[in-house]
Amino acid sequence: MNEVMINAFDVTRNFTISRGMFRGKQQLKAVSGVNLTVERGEVLALVGESGCGKTTLAKMLLGLLPQTSGTVELCGQQIADVPRLELARTVQPIFQDPYSSLNPRKRIGSIIALPMKVQGIDDEETMRRRVEETMDLVGLPPRLFTAFPNQLSGGQRQRVAIARALVNRPQVVICDEPTSALDVSVQSQILNLLNDLRNELNLTYIVISHNLAVVEHIATRVAVMYLGRIVEVADTETLFSDPKHPYTRALLASVLTPDPNMDVPNNQLGASYPNPIDPPSGCAFHPRCVNAMPQCSKIAPSGSTQGEHYVECHLYD
Ligand code: SF4
Repeated sequence: MNEVMINAFDVTRNFTISRGMFRGKQQLKAVSGVNLTVERGEVLALVGESGCGKTTLAKMLLGLLPQTSGTVELCGQQIADVPRLELARTVQPIFQDPYSSLNPRKRIGSIIALPMKVQGIDDEETMRRRVEETMDLVGLPPRLFTAFPNQLSGGQRQRVAIARALVNRPQVVICDEPTSALDVSVQSQILNLLNDLRNELNLTYIVISHNLAVVEHIATRVAVMYLGRIVEVADTETLFSDPKHPYTRALLASVLTPDPNMDVPNNQLGASYPNPIDPPSGCAFHPRCVNAMPQCSKIAPSGSTQGEHYVECHLYD
């Protein structure tokens, strides 16, 4: 087994929601009892519909949000005990919209250098050399050192965001929809760049995406989330060739095909996504599941594992 970079055990995150002046407060379980291990060099994709809890989970793995219960360990240390600067040196995020995450009044060199300044590096020569090296690494020409973000294309801006995340050479990078704000023509360039950087710098990625084409391109393992729980985990090839959970099957069935003779796919998800404040009983997927059985609305499946393939569904109990 490779070195474990992140270990999440029974992690739950609740939010208290106000329902109006006279209706009191209610708990929303954004993440519920998640177990996850990420090894060095892996690309773990978290997939699921909006509101399934993948971004909340990623924030806890980044140390940006405390968990309500459970534990998150980074390189064997409780994440809450890792000093702030060490945490920022080890884990870095890349956000989905490179334009809004870059300060429009700062020059590119200064934007990329900022995490070094935060770490207390203030020698101009060291900073300039490291920034130029990192720009070269992500394929940004040196002339852009003095440019402003609005002078760059979308793909170049995302390269700046990647360079800023990598300038302190972190070990884990959490990519939140890294290509969703980009033109289709640029998306594969950025995904190939992320792949090359992983090999070159021995990085570990957690990629949050609802785009299964992106996931298939970049991930080595996939965790499917539904209403705050991980319902299936498998290596990418197995998940795409032999999906077991009915929700995963529906997600894969909903991917559009470039074949003009095929209709818009039917994802078989009859009912709409449930309200996380008032989740369905038993298996939370049962109102939308084509395979639902009588016990599904009463008893939550506990999950079973075949080899490295984990699935949470009564069909496999
Ligand atoms: Fe469907 Fe039942 Fe499996 Fe849930 S437990 S996914 S409702 S078959």
